[in-house]
Amino acid sequence: QFPFGRRLPCDIYWHGVSFHDNNIFSGQVNKFPGMMETVRKITLSRAMRTMQDLFPLEYNFYPRSWILPEELPLFVAEVRMMKDSNPSWKPTFIVKPDGGCQGDGIYLIKDPSDIRLTGSIQSRPAVVQEYICKPLLVDKLKFDIRLYVLLKSLEPLEIYIAKDGLSRFCTEPYQEPTLKNLHQVFMHLTNYSLNIHSGNFIHSDSVNTGSKRTFSSILCRLSSRGADVKKLWSDIISLVIKTIIALTPELKVYYQSDIPAGKPGPTCFQILGFDILLMKNLKPMLLEVNANPSMRIEHEQELSPGVFENVPSPVDEEVKVAVIRDTLRLVDPQKKKRKDTHLSFHTYLLIFPTQLQSLHAGIASMKDKQHKHHSLKLS
Ligand code: ADP
Repeated sequence: QFPFGRRLPCDIYWHGVSFHDNNIFSGQVNKFPGMMETVRKITLSRAMRTMQDLFPLEYNFYPRSWILPEELPLFVAEVRMMKDSNPSWKPTFIVKPDGGCQGDGIYLIKDPSDIRLTGSIQSRPAVVQEYICKPLLVDKLKFDIRLYVLLKSLEPLEIYIAKDGLSRFCTEPYQEPTLKNLHQVFMHLTNYSLNIHSGNFIHSDSVNTGSKRTFSSILCRLSSRGADVKKLWSDIISLVIKTIIALTPELKVYYQSDIPAGKPGPTCFQILGFDILLMKNLKPMLLEVNANPSMRIEHEQELSPGVFENVPSPVDEEVKVAVIRDTLRLVDPQKKKRKDTHLSFHTYLLIFPTQLQSLHAGIASMKDKQHKHHSLKLS
């Protein structure tokens, strides 16, 4: 660690939280400039909204969201309109403070009038989002998926998706939200940092039991029940690509400002944590993108009251060690010399750059047409 900077050139710089050093002139850095800002709840919701306005069907994997406080009147009006046109619609919403993590400050509401306006919304903006009421359950419990995605390059876009991830379980059997159970965080929020405080939390000693399991163990289980796991993977891959495409314009602005073309500078890569919820019908929904996914492979265990010890977590180790190892292999500057191919890395699935470029170009041209359409309408 070099808290005051390291002036000798390195092949790979591993920054702790975000890209922060404008005095690096070569090599690779494990963070993109501006990534933290780009994936914050409000910024992500804005980027997804832009794409949802342009391609509503392509981007229906992100719950309808409003930004508070600025869109509070819009939120109230839209919900009223939807309720008027469909009186049987009984929605629930989830309010999430911007920049929050680990479930901090999150609460569920049944009606826009339940938003807690006292102080916090004004001082701490938030996103309010349609709550997904019918998640897929395993052992009667709600769970979400943390998938690791390596953004290896912005230009050309190169994306790798780790073939295995983590499934993080709630610790109270799930019930659809009612006024009575809205406050039960162990039933509705899958955050590890919250559920670990539940008496029902089970530290997993194998990959397919307990409160944190591998995603592959869930897939095995789904597959044995006859679910179309191939389709699920292809939907997840498409969700990841479309999300990164939505974030790319903003990321490029940050990149060009911090590392201008033509000036000596490093190249960047980054491991992102995608949090995904599966609906009962197996449709994956994006909850959020994490710029600093935890890479801890240990957990704390209370040996006796107040006495904690770090013990290895086999599930975290199984998934995260492989992700870090293959990330380093993929960005290894010696790789070219050894003529390794992309396909030799078994942890990651490569989204072929050509496939990606054509998708990107397709969306860009659709955007362009849409833009012309809008300008025509305006003129
Ligand atoms: P944080 O960054 O604080 O963890 P998240 O957006 O990941 O915030 O939300 C925390 C948890 O709340 C998620 O892990 C998930 O279990 C639940 N959650 C978040 N958004 C939704 C939603 N739209 N529908 C259902 N559950 C949600």
